Amino acid sequence: MTDGAGHEVVVVGSVNADLVVGVDRRPGPGETVLGSDLATHPGGKGANQAVAAARLGGRTAILGRIGDDGHGELLRAALGAARVDLAHLLLTPGPSGVALITVDPGGDNSIIVSPGANAHLTPEDVANARDLIAGAAVVSFQLEVPQPAVLAAARAAADAGARVVLNLSPAAEVPAELLALCDPLVVNEHEAAFLLGERGEPEAMARALLARGPRSVVVTLGADGALTADAAGVTAVPSPRVEAVDTTGAGDAFTAALCLRLARGDGLAAAARHAARVGAAAVRKAGAQTSYPKAGDDLPS
Ligand code: ADP
Repeated sequence: MTDGAGHEVVVVGSVNADLVVGVDRRPGPGETVLGSDLATHPGGKGANQAVAAARLGGRTAILGRIGDDGHGELLRAALGAARVDLAHLLLTPGPSGVALITVDPGGDNSIIVSPGANAHLTPEDVANARDLIAGAAVVSFQLEVPQPAVLAAARAAADAGARVVLNLSPAAEVPAELLALCDPLVVNEHEAAFLLGERGEPEAMARALLARGPRSVVVTLGADGALTADAAGVTAVPSPRVEAVDTTGAGDAFTAALCLRLARGDGLAAAARHAARVGAAAVRKAGAQTSYPKAGDDLPS
């Protein structure tokens, strides 16, 4: 696949190595504790979404940056194994992005993200990927890469008639211009409350978010599924009941499946119904990318 060959989903986003250690308890200031063996997994919201869309059979590319370290090689290999187009996976001298994750016996995570190469994604990189973006049906964004690059790419996508999907994660203020390009804006309840300044009933939050300017909104509600909101109204989308083993990366699987179905012509509510099944499939297995279903796999319903 080359630029302009018409990707279904182009992801503009982060590529991180997740470095995971289990601990009995977290150290306090000045304290040292022993943890489990280190596990290193490919992650980053951008890479997770790209891998999820590609595993579902979508023609998928990523625009992002990795470092010239060992983690970079691992991250490139994971994306390549999922058949993500890597022509715009750029190399930055220095460290790749990493997420330093401790998991306690209750399963709660504490996470520090060191952006590394992700912080070097620029509007110039976006300009160099203009054909890639213009050839996409859907361009998907999150907020683990610098906002100037996100805004430049969202403008380029919208100008070319590609659909802009923004997952506002991690939660951050964004310019009204960017919100207005989103179709949909995808948030979980926490991110919705951040944008609105207060938590409310999910349906009221979905309507209030729509009033902030995006063309459409999806609020994900964990085991309760999701709500879609657009000019046609608010639609509740249930999630299949599954035994949750690990919810890491479920939101990324949901968003990727949503993007792929939108690229293939589904309406928003229909795409979200499918995305909820993919999100539910992802929580049945451990890990993020390792938990994502392949095209043809049985999905929970
Ligand atoms: P995030 O991971 O971004 O916080 P959510 O927790 O809302 O997002 O999960 C995203 C989607 O994944 C949900 O809309 C739902 O479809 C699915 N999902 C998440 N947790 C569960 C669960 N425990 N059972 C079934 N589906 C789930």
